[in-house]
Amino acid sequence: MLPMHQSKLFTRTRWRLSAWYAAIIGALLSLSGLAFYEMLAQAHWHALHLELESLSGTLHDGLEPILMRPGQLEPEVKQLLPELCLANEDCLKQTEPLARHILGKAQRHGYYVRFLDPSGHIIATVGWQPKGLPFQTQAQDWQTLKDDRGQRYHQISLLLKTKSNTAWGYMQVGRSLSAYDDYLAMTRLVLLIGLPAALVLTSGASWWLAGLAMRPIYQSYQKIQQFTADAAHELRTPLAATQATIESVLEAETLSESEARKTLCAVERQNNRLTQLVQDLLLLSRMDRQEIMPKQQPCCLKTLVYDVVDEFEGLAIASELQLSLEIQVQQSLFVWGDEEQLYRLVANLVTNAIQYTPKGGTVALLLHQSDHHAVIQVKDTGIGIPAPEHSQIFERFYRVDSNRARITGGSGLGLAIAMAIAHAHQGTIQVQSQLGQGSTFTVKLPVTAGNP
Ligand code: ADP
Repeated sequence: MLPMHQSKLFTRTRWRLSAWYAAIIGALLSLSGLAFYEMLAQAHWHALHLELESLSGTLHDGLEPILMRPGQLEPEVKQLLPELCLANEDCLKQTEPLARHILGKAQRHGYYVRFLDPSGHIIATVGWQPKGLPFQTQAQDWQTLKDDRGQRYHQISLLLKTKSNTAWGYMQVGRSLSAYDDYLAMTRLVLLIGLPAALVLTSGASWWLAGLAMRPIYQSYQKIQQFTADAAHELRTPLAATQATIESVLEAETLSESEARKTLCAVERQNNRLTQLVQDLLLLSRMDRQEIMPKQQPCCLKTLVYDVVDEFEGLAIASELQLSLEIQVQQSLFVWGDEEQLYRLVANLVTNAIQYTPKGGTVALLLHQSDHHAVIQVKDTGIGIPAPEHSQIFERFYRVDSNRARITGGSGLGLAIAMAIAHAHQGTIQVQSQLGQGSTFTVKLPVTAGNP
Protein backbone atom coordinates (compact mmCIF):
# COMPACT_ATOMS: atom_id res chain seq x y z
CA MET A 1 0.00 0.00 0.00
CA LEU A 2 1.20 3.53 -0.87
CA PRO A 3 2.24 5.87 1.97
CA MET A 4 0.02 8.95 2.23
CA HIS A 5 2.47 11.39 0.64
CA GLN A 6 2.56 9.26 -2.53
CA SER A 7 -1.18 9.29 -2.99
CA LYS A 8 -1.99 12.16 -5.39
CA LEU A 9 -5.56 12.50 -4.15
CA PHE A 10 -4.54 12.80 -0.49
CA THR A 11 -1.57 15.10 -1.20
CA ARG A 12 -3.83 17.43 -3.22
CA THR A 13 -6.46 17.40 -0.45
CA ARG A 14 -3.78 18.04 2.16
CA TRP A 15 -2.50 21.06 0.21
CA ARG A 16 -6.02 22.41 -0.15
CA LEU A 17 -6.83 21.85 3.50
CA SER A 18 -3.65 23.48 4.75
CA ALA A 19 -4.10 26.43 2.37
CA TRP A 20 -7.59 26.98 3.80
CA TYR A 21 -6.32 26.63 7.38
CA ALA A 22 -3.47 29.07 6.69
CA ALA A 23 -5.76 31.55 4.92
CA ILE A 24 -8.36 31.51 7.71
CA ILE A 25 -5.82 31.71 10.54
CA GLY A 26 -3.86 34.34 8.57
CA ALA A 27 -7.02 36.44 8.11
CA LEU A 28 -7.88 36.10 11.80
CA LEU A 29 -4.33 37.03 12.82
CA SER A 30 -4.32 40.06 10.53
CA LEU A 31 -7.69 41.21 11.86
CA SER A 32 -6.55 40.74 15.47
CA GLY A 33 -3.31 42.60 14.65
CA LEU A 34 -5.28 45.46 13.13
CA ALA A 35 -7.70 45.58 16.06
CA PHE A 36 -4.77 45.50 18.52
CA TYR A 37 -3.08 48.37 16.67
CA GLU A 38 -6.27 50.44 16.60
CA MET A 39 -6.90 49.87 20.32
CA LEU A 40 -3.32 50.80 21.18
CA ALA A 41 -3.46 53.97 19.08
CA GLN A 42 -6.84 54.95 20.54
CA ALA A 43 -5.73 54.34 24.15
CA HIS A 44 -2.58 56.43 23.70
CA TRP A 45 -4.42 59.20 21.89
CA HIS A 46 -7.03 59.31 24.63
CA ALA A 47 -4.38 59.55 27.38
CA LEU A 48 -2.57 62.30 25.47
CA HIS A 49 -5.81 64.18 24.97
CA LEU A 50 -6.73 63.98 28.65
CA GLU A 51 -3.32 65.20 29.74
CA LEU A 52 -3.52 68.21 27.41
CA GLU A 53 -7.06 68.95 28.51
CA SER A 54 -6.18 68.87 32.20
CA LEU A 55 -3.10 71.06 31.72
CA SER A 56 -4.95 73.67 29.65
CA GLY A 57 -7.83 73.60 32.15
CA THR A 58 -5.47 74.29 35.05
CA LEU A 59 -3.82 77.18 33.19
CA HIS A 60 -7.15 78.62 32.13
CA ASP A 61 -8.51 78.55 35.71
CA GLY A 62 -5.31 80.06 37.09
CA LEU A 63 -5.03 82.87 34.52
CA GLU A 64 -8.55 84.17 34.01
CA PRO A 65 -8.89 85.78 37.51
CA ILE A 66 -5.73 87.89 36.92
CA LEU A 67 -6.41 89.09 33.37
CA MET A 68 -7.76 92.66 33.36
CA ARG A 69 -7.34 94.19 29.88
CA PRO A 70 -7.93 92.44 26.54
CA GLY A 71 -4.64 91.44 24.85
CA GLN A 72 -2.52 92.63 27.85
CA LEU A 73 -0.61 90.27 30.18
CA GLU A 74 -0.56 91.55 33.74
CA PRO A 75 2.72 91.25 35.74
CA GLU A 76 1.07 88.55 37.94
CA VAL A 77 1.06 86.24 34.90
CA LYS A 78 4.86 86.35 34.91
CA GLN A 79 4.83 85.10 38.52
CA LEU A 80 2.57 82.23 37.56
CA LEU A 81 4.57 81.45 34.40
CA PRO A 82 8.24 82.52 34.95
CA GLU A 83 9.21 81.32 31.46
CA LEU A 84 6.75 83.71 29.82
CA CYS A 85 8.37 85.39 26.84
CA LEU A 86 6.69 88.41 25.32
CA ALA A 87 6.61 88.67 21.52
CA ASN A 88 9.16 91.53 21.41
CA GLU A 89 11.63 89.93 23.90
CA ASP A 90 14.63 87.72 23.22
CA CYS A 91 14.07 84.84 25.57
CA LEU A 92 16.76 82.42 24.36
CA LYS A 93 18.87 82.91 27.49
CA GLN A 94 16.13 82.12 29.91
CA THR A 95 17.22 78.99 31.66
CA GLU A 96 14.96 78.99 34.69
CA PRO A 97 14.36 75.41 35.76
CA LEU A 98 10.84 74.48 34.78
CA ALA A 99 10.17 71.88 37.39
CA ARG A 100 9.05 74.38 39.97
CA HIS A 101 6.17 76.01 38.16
CA ILE A 102 2.91 74.91 36.72
CA LEU A 103 4.33 73.65 33.36
CA GLY A 104 7.39 71.96 34.81
CA LYS A 105 6.34 68.35 34.35
CA ALA A 106 4.51 68.92 31.11
CA GLN A 107 7.38 70.84 29.50
CA ARG A 108 9.61 67.81 29.59
CA HIS A 109 7.15 65.98 27.34
CA GLY A 110 7.28 68.59 24.54
CA TYR A 111 4.43 70.85 25.66
CA TYR A 112 4.19 74.50 24.61
CA VAL A 113 1.90 77.47 25.45
CA ARG A 114 1.11 80.50 23.31
CA PHE A 115 -1.00 83.59 23.98
CA LEU A 116 -2.72 85.37 21.08
CA ASP A 117 -4.78 88.55 20.99
CA PRO A 118 -8.39 88.37 19.70
CA SER A 119 -7.22 89.05 16.13
CA GLY A 120 -4.76 86.14 16.24
CA HIS A 121 -1.45 87.98 16.74
CA ILE A 122 1.02 86.37 19.07
CA ILE A 123 1.47 88.21 22.38
CA ALA A 124 3.65 85.80 24.32
CA THR A 125 4.92 82.23 24.50
CA VAL A 126 6.04 79.95 27.31
CA GLY A 127 9.26 77.93 27.08
CA TRP A 128 10.23 75.92 24.06
CA GLN A 129 8.31 76.58 20.83
CA PRO A 130 8.05 74.40 17.73
CA LYS A 131 9.35 76.13 14.61
CA GLY A 132 7.05 76.99 11.72
CA LEU A 133 3.82 75.99 13.43
CA PRO A 134 0.92 78.04 11.97
CA PHE A 135 -1.08 80.33 14.27
CA GLN A 136 -4.71 79.64 13.80
CA THR A 137 -7.54 80.69 16.03
CA GLN A 138 -10.65 79.05 14.83
CA ALA A 139 -13.82 78.25 16.60
CA GLN A 140 -12.65 74.64 16.54
CA ASP A 141 -10.68 74.23 19.77
CA TRP A 142 -8.81 70.97 19.05
CA GLN A 143 -6.32 70.87 16.19
CA THR A 144 -3.61 68.61 14.87
CA LEU A 145 -0.92 70.65 13.08
CA LYS A 146 2.39 70.11 11.31
CA ASP A 147 5.52 72.23 11.69
CA ASP A 148 7.87 73.02 8.81
CA ARG A 149 9.79 69.74 9.40
CA GLY A 150 6.59 67.76 9.11
CA GLN A 151 6.39 66.93 12.83
CA ARG A 152 2.90 66.68 14.17
CA TYR A 153 1.45 68.56 17.16
CA HIS A 154 -1.81 68.30 18.97
CA GLN A 155 -3.13 71.55 20.32
CA ILE A 156 -6.09 73.03 22.16
CA SER A 157 -7.12 76.72 21.74
CA LEU A 158 -9.08 78.29 24.56
CA LEU A 159 -10.74 81.69 24.56
CA LEU A 160 -9.61 83.59 27.69
CA LYS A 161 -11.80 86.21 29.32
CA THR A 162 -10.84 89.08 31.55
CA LYS A 163 -12.02 89.41 35.10
CA SER A 164 -14.85 91.64 33.78
CA ASN A 165 -15.91 88.87 31.41
CA THR A 166 -14.81 90.47 28.13
CA ALA A 167 -12.82 88.50 25.54
CA TRP A 168 -9.10 88.75 26.34
CA GLY A 169 -7.63 86.62 23.52
CA TYR A 170 -6.58 83.03 23.02
CA MET A 171 -4.37 80.62 24.85
CA GLN A 172 -3.01 77.67 22.87
CA VAL A 173 -1.59 74.67 24.70
CA GLY A 174 -0.10 71.92 22.60
CA ARG A 175 2.32 69.07 22.61
CA SER A 176 4.51 67.30 20.12
CA LEU A 177 3.19 64.01 18.72
CA SER A 178 6.64 62.74 17.79
CA ALA A 179 6.85 60.24 20.70
CA TYR A 180 3.33 59.06 19.91
CA ASP A 181 4.08 58.77 16.16
CA ASP A 182 7.39 56.97 16.83
CA TYR A 183 5.66 54.53 19.14
CA LEU A 184 2.97 53.77 16.56
CA ALA A 185 5.54 53.45 13.78
CA MET A 186 7.45 50.93 15.90
CA THR A 187 4.23 48.98 16.60
CA ARG A 188 3.45 48.95 12.86
CA LEU A 189 6.94 47.67 12.10
CA VAL A 190 6.62 44.89 14.69
CA LEU A 191 3.24 43.92 13.21
CA LEU A 192 4.52 44.10 9.64
CA ILE A 193 7.45 41.79 10.43
CA GLY A 194 5.58 39.66 12.99
CA LEU A 195 2.50 38.94 10.90
CA PRO A 196 4.28 37.47 7.84
CA ALA A 197 6.51 35.45 10.21
CA ALA A 198 3.41 34.20 12.04
CA LEU A 199 1.85 33.38 8.65
CA VAL A 200 4.87 31.29 7.64
CA LEU A 201 4.71 29.42 10.95
CA THR A 202 0.94 29.02 10.58
CA SER A 203 1.36 27.56 7.09
CA GLY A 204 3.85 25.00 8.41
CA ALA A 205 1.58 24.14 11.33
CA SER A 206 -1.42 23.89 8.97
CA TRP A 207 0.42 21.45 6.72
CA TRP A 208 1.35 19.33 9.73
CA LEU A 209 -2.18 19.52 11.22
CA ALA A 210 -3.81 18.62 7.89
CA GLY A 211 -1.54 15.57 7.71
CA LEU A 212 -2.47 14.62 11.27
CA ALA A 213 -6.19 15.02 10.60
CA MET A 214 -6.03 13.02 7.39
CA ARG A 215 -3.99 10.12 8.73
CA PRO A 216 -6.95 8.17 10.23
CA ILE A 217 -9.01 8.91 7.10
CA TYR A 218 -6.18 7.59 4.94
CA GLN A 219 -5.92 4.49 7.11
CA SER A 220 -9.65 3.73 6.73
CA TYR A 221 -9.39 4.49 3.01
CA GLN A 222 -6.55 1.98 2.77
CA LYS A 223 -8.58 -0.57 4.73
CA ILE A 224 -11.53 -0.14 2.39
CA GLN A 225 -9.24 -0.54 -0.61
CA GLN A 226 -7.67 -3.64 0.91
CA PHE A 227 -11.11 -5.00 1.78
CA THR A 228 -12.40 -4.43 -1.77
CA ALA A 229 -9.33 -6.12 -3.24
CA ASP A 230 -9.63 -9.07 -0.82
CA ALA A 231 -13.36 -9.46 -1.41
CA ALA A 232 -12.84 -9.40 -5.19
CA HIS A 233 -10.06 -11.97 -4.84
CA GLU A 234 -12.21 -14.26 -2.68
CA LEU A 235 -15.13 -14.02 -5.10
CA ARG A 236 -12.89 -14.65 -8.09
CA THR A 237 -11.59 -18.00 -6.79
CA PRO A 238 -14.92 -19.94 -6.79
CA LEU A 239 -16.01 -18.15 -9.96
CA ALA A 240 -12.81 -19.17 -11.75
CA ALA A 241 -13.21 -22.75 -10.48
CA THR A 242 -16.81 -22.90 -11.76
CA GLN A 243 -15.74 -21.42 -15.10
CA ALA A 244 -12.98 -24.01 -15.48
CA THR A 245 -15.37 -26.87 -14.64
CA ILE A 246 -17.95 -25.64 -17.16
CA GLU A 247 -15.31 -25.14 -19.90
CA SER A 248 -13.91 -28.65 -19.43
CA VAL A 249 -17.40 -30.13 -19.72
CA LEU A 250 -18.20 -28.07 -22.82
CA GLU A 251 -14.99 -29.23 -24.49
CA ALA A 252 -15.92 -32.90 -24.01
CA GLU A 253 -17.80 -34.36 -26.97
CA THR A 254 -20.02 -36.61 -24.94
CA LEU A 255 -21.02 -36.49 -21.30
CA SER A 256 -22.16 -39.48 -19.30
CA GLU A 257 -24.78 -39.08 -16.60
CA SER A 258 -22.27 -39.71 -13.81
CA GLU A 259 -19.90 -37.10 -15.28
CA ALA A 260 -22.75 -34.62 -15.53
CA ARG A 261 -23.67 -35.27 -11.91
CA LYS A 262 -20.03 -34.87 -10.84
CA THR A 263 -19.80 -31.57 -12.70
CA LEU A 264 -23.00 -30.28 -11.16
CA CYS A 265 -21.76 -31.29 -7.69
CA ALA A 266 -18.53 -29.32 -8.28
CA VAL A 267 -20.50 -26.31 -9.46
CA GLU A 268 -22.81 -26.61 -6.48
CA ARG A 269 -19.82 -26.73 -4.10
CA GLN A 270 -18.37 -23.55 -5.54
CA ASN A 271 -21.80 -21.97 -5.53
CA ASN A 272 -22.24 -22.83 -1.85
CA ARG A 273 -18.87 -21.30 -1.12
CA LEU A 274 -19.87 -18.13 -2.95
CA THR A 275 -23.24 -18.00 -1.18
CA GLN A 276 -21.56 -18.44 2.22
CA LEU A 277 -19.03 -15.73 1.41
CA VAL A 278 -21.68 -13.27 0.27
CA GLN A 279 -23.82 -14.04 3.35
CA ASP A 280 -20.84 -13.48 5.67
CA LEU A 281 -20.00 -10.20 3.97
CA LEU A 282 -23.59 -9.04 4.20
CA LEU A 283 -23.75 -9.99 7.87
CA LEU A 284 -20.56 -8.05 8.63
CA SER A 285 -21.64 -4.96 6.71
CA ARG A 286 -25.06 -4.97 8.40
CA MET A 287 -23.45 -5.33 11.81
CA ASP A 288 -21.08 -2.48 10.94
CA ARG A 289 -23.99 -0.23 10.04
CA GLN A 290 -25.83 -1.52 13.12
CA GLU A 291 -28.68 -2.61 10.90
CA ILE A 292 -28.87 -5.89 12.78
CA MET A 293 -29.04 -5.29 16.47
CA PRO A 294 -28.81 -8.49 18.47
CA LYS A 295 -32.17 -9.60 19.80
CA GLN A 296 -32.38 -8.90 23.48
CA GLN A 297 -33.44 -12.19 24.97
CA PRO A 298 -31.99 -14.24 27.82
CA CYS A 299 -29.67 -16.92 26.40
CA CYS A 300 -28.65 -19.88 28.51
CA LEU A 301 -24.96 -20.43 27.80
CA LYS A 302 -24.94 -23.93 29.28
CA THR A 303 -27.52 -25.10 26.73
CA LEU A 304 -25.65 -23.24 24.00
CA VAL A 305 -22.29 -24.93 24.62
CA TYR A 306 -23.96 -28.36 24.92
CA ASP A 307 -25.58 -27.78 21.51
CA VAL A 308 -22.28 -26.70 19.93
CA VAL A 309 -20.49 -29.80 21.22
CA ASP A 310 -23.37 -31.95 20.00
CA GLU A 311 -23.10 -30.46 16.52
CA PHE A 312 -19.32 -30.71 16.19
CA GLU A 313 -18.76 -34.11 17.82
CA GLY A 314 -19.12 -35.83 14.46
CA LEU A 315 -16.61 -33.51 12.77
CA ALA A 316 -14.15 -33.98 15.65
CA ILE A 317 -14.38 -37.76 15.38
CA ALA A 318 -13.95 -37.56 11.61
CA SER A 319 -10.86 -35.39 12.16
CA GLU A 320 -9.58 -37.89 14.75
CA LEU A 321 -9.67 -35.33 17.54
CA GLN A 322 -10.99 -35.42 21.05
CA LEU A 323 -13.65 -32.78 21.71
CA SER A 324 -14.48 -32.17 25.38
CA LEU A 325 -16.77 -29.88 27.33
CA GLU A 326 -16.06 -28.58 30.83
CA ILE A 327 -18.68 -26.53 32.66
CA GLN A 328 -17.30 -24.98 35.83
CA VAL A 329 -20.46 -23.31 37.13
CA GLN A 330 -23.23 -24.92 39.14
CA GLN A 331 -26.05 -22.55 38.43
CA SER A 332 -27.30 -21.67 34.97
CA LEU A 333 -25.56 -18.79 33.25
CA PHE A 334 -27.62 -16.32 31.23
CA VAL A 335 -26.56 -13.45 29.03
CA TRP A 336 -28.78 -10.96 27.19
CA GLY A 337 -28.49 -11.21 23.48
CA ASP A 338 -29.19 -13.06 20.30
CA GLU A 339 -28.90 -16.82 20.74
CA GLU A 340 -28.35 -17.47 17.05
CA GLN A 341 -25.48 -14.99 16.88
CA LEU A 342 -23.87 -16.26 20.10
CA TYR A 343 -24.11 -19.81 18.77
CA ARG A 344 -22.36 -18.64 15.58
CA LEU A 345 -19.60 -17.03 17.64
CA VAL A 346 -18.81 -20.22 19.61
CA ALA A 347 -19.29 -22.43 16.55
CA ASN A 348 -16.76 -20.35 14.54
CA LEU A 349 -14.15 -20.77 17.30
CA VAL A 350 -14.76 -24.53 17.60
CA THR A 351 -14.65 -24.95 13.79
CA ASN A 352 -11.28 -23.19 13.69
CA ALA A 353 -9.96 -25.23 16.62
CA ILE A 354 -10.90 -28.46 14.83
CA GLN A 355 -9.57 -27.24 11.47
CA TYR A 356 -6.21 -26.09 12.80
CA THR A 357 -5.51 -29.05 15.12
CA PRO A 358 -3.75 -32.07 13.67
CA LYS A 359 -5.01 -35.63 14.18
CA GLY A 360 -4.73 -36.96 17.73
CA GLY A 361 -5.05 -33.50 19.28
CA THR A 362 -7.69 -32.21 21.65
CA VAL A 363 -10.19 -29.39 21.55
CA ALA A 364 -11.79 -28.33 24.83
CA LEU A 365 -14.75 -26.04 25.32
CA LEU A 366 -14.90 -24.47 28.80
CA LEU A 367 -17.61 -22.38 30.44
CA HIS A 368 -17.20 -20.56 33.74
CA GLN A 369 -17.97 -17.26 35.45
CA SER A 370 -15.57 -14.52 36.49
CA ASP A 371 -17.06 -11.56 38.39
CA HIS A 372 -19.97 -10.33 36.29
CA HIS A 373 -18.84 -12.05 33.12
CA ALA A 374 -19.54 -15.39 31.58
CA VAL A 375 -16.30 -16.79 30.17
CA ILE A 376 -16.25 -19.21 27.24
CA GLN A 377 -12.89 -20.67 26.25
CA VAL A 378 -11.97 -22.78 23.25
CA LYS A 379 -8.61 -24.49 23.79
CA ASP A 380 -6.83 -26.61 21.25
CA THR A 381 -3.49 -28.34 20.89
CA GLY A 382 -3.19 -27.28 17.25
CA ILE A 383 -0.68 -25.49 15.07
CA GLY A 384 -0.88 -22.21 16.97
CA ILE A 385 -0.56 -18.64 15.70
CA PRO A 386 2.66 -16.57 15.60
CA ALA A 387 2.57 -13.79 18.25
CA PRO A 388 2.86 -10.82 15.79
CA GLU A 389 -0.32 -12.00 14.08
CA HIS A 390 -2.50 -12.31 17.19
CA SER A 391 -4.33 -9.04 16.57
CA GLN A 392 -4.38 -9.35 12.77
CA ILE A 393 -6.32 -12.63 12.69
CA PHE A 394 -9.47 -10.71 13.66
CA GLU A 395 -9.21 -8.54 10.53
CA ARG A 396 -11.42 -9.36 7.57
CA PHE A 397 -9.91 -11.87 5.12
CA TYR A 398 -6.74 -12.19 7.17
CA ARG A 399 -5.20 -15.64 7.20
CA VAL A 400 -1.99 -16.66 8.88
CA ASP A 401 -1.14 -19.02 6.09
CA SER A 402 -3.42 -18.50 3.13
CA ASN A 403 -2.55 -21.76 1.41
CA ARG A 404 -3.32 -23.83 4.46
CA ALA A 405 -6.50 -21.92 5.25
CA ARG A 406 -7.74 -22.28 1.69
CA ILE A 407 -7.43 -26.06 1.99
CA THR A 408 -9.73 -25.86 5.02
CA GLY A 409 -12.15 -23.83 2.92
CA GLY A 410 -12.00 -20.82 5.23
CA SER A 411 -12.49 -17.35 3.78
CA GLY A 412 -10.80 -15.44 6.59
CA LEU A 413 -14.07 -13.94 7.84
CA GLY A 414 -14.84 -16.37 10.73
CA LEU A 415 -12.94 -14.49 13.45
CA ALA A 416 -14.04 -11.07 12.14
CA ILE A 417 -17.66 -12.21 12.50
CA ALA A 418 -16.92 -13.66 15.99
CA MET A 419 -15.38 -10.34 17.05
CA ALA A 420 -18.33 -8.32 15.65
CA ILE A 421 -20.82 -10.53 17.53
CA ALA A 422 -18.84 -10.29 20.80
CA HIS A 423 -18.72 -6.49 20.51
CA ALA A 424 -22.43 -6.26 19.68
CA HIS A 425 -23.04 -8.07 23.00
CA GLN A 426 -20.70 -5.71 24.92
CA GLY A 427 -18.22 -8.56 25.18
CA THR A 428 -14.60 -9.14 24.29
CA ILE A 429 -12.63 -11.82 22.52
CA GLN A 430 -8.94 -12.52 23.06
CA VAL A 431 -6.39 -15.04 21.88
CA GLN A 432 -3.41 -16.67 23.55
CA SER A 433 -1.39 -18.89 21.34
CA GLN A 434 2.03 -20.39 20.84
CA LEU A 435 3.25 -21.66 17.51
CA GLY A 436 3.16 -25.46 17.45
CA GLN A 437 1.65 -25.66 20.94
CA GLY A 438 -1.96 -24.66 20.50
CA SER A 439 -4.33 -21.73 20.95
CA THR A 440 -6.90 -20.55 23.47
CA PHE A 441 -9.67 -18.16 22.43
CA THR A 442 -11.43 -16.48 25.37
CA VAL A 443 -14.82 -14.80 25.05
CA LYS A 444 -16.18 -12.68 27.91
CA LEU A 445 -19.82 -11.63 27.96
CA PRO A 446 -21.63 -9.65 30.66
CA VAL A 447 -24.08 -11.90 32.54
CA THR A 448 -27.62 -10.80 33.30
CA ALA A 449 -28.25 -9.88 36.94
CA GLY A 450 -30.30 -12.75 38.37
CA ASN A 451 -31.85 -15.51 36.33
CA PRO A 452 -34.68 -14.38 34.06
P1 ADP B 1 -10.64 -18.86 8.27
O1 ADP B 1 -11.95 -18.90 7.62
O2 ADP B 1 -9.49 -18.78 7.35
O3 ADP B 1 -10.47 -19.89 9.34
P2 ADP B 1 -10.81 -17.05 10.46
O4 ADP B 1 -11.13 -15.59 10.47
O5 ADP B 1 -11.70 -17.92 11.21
O6 ADP B 1 -10.66 -17.44 8.96
O7 ADP B 1 -9.35 -17.19 11.02
C1 ADP B 1 -8.31 -16.35 10.54
C2 ADP B 1 -6.98 -17.04 10.58
O8 ADP B 1 -6.60 -17.25 11.95
C3 ADP B 1 -7.02 -18.43 9.99
O9 ADP B 1 -6.76 -18.37 8.62
C4 ADP B 1 -5.93 -19.14 10.75
O10 ADP B 1 -4.70 -18.95 10.12
C5 ADP B 1 -5.90 -18.45 12.10
N1 ADP B 1 -6.60 -19.25 13.13
C6 ADP B 1 -7.84 -19.07 13.60
N2 ADP B 1 -8.14 -19.95 14.58
C7 ADP B 1 -7.02 -20.71 14.75
C8 ADP B 1 -6.67 -21.79 15.62
N3 ADP B 1 -7.52 -22.26 16.53
N4 ADP B 1 -5.43 -22.29 15.49
C9 ADP B 1 -4.55 -21.80 14.60
N5 ADP B 1 -4.81 -20.80 13.75
C10 ADP B 1 -6.04 -20.24 13.83
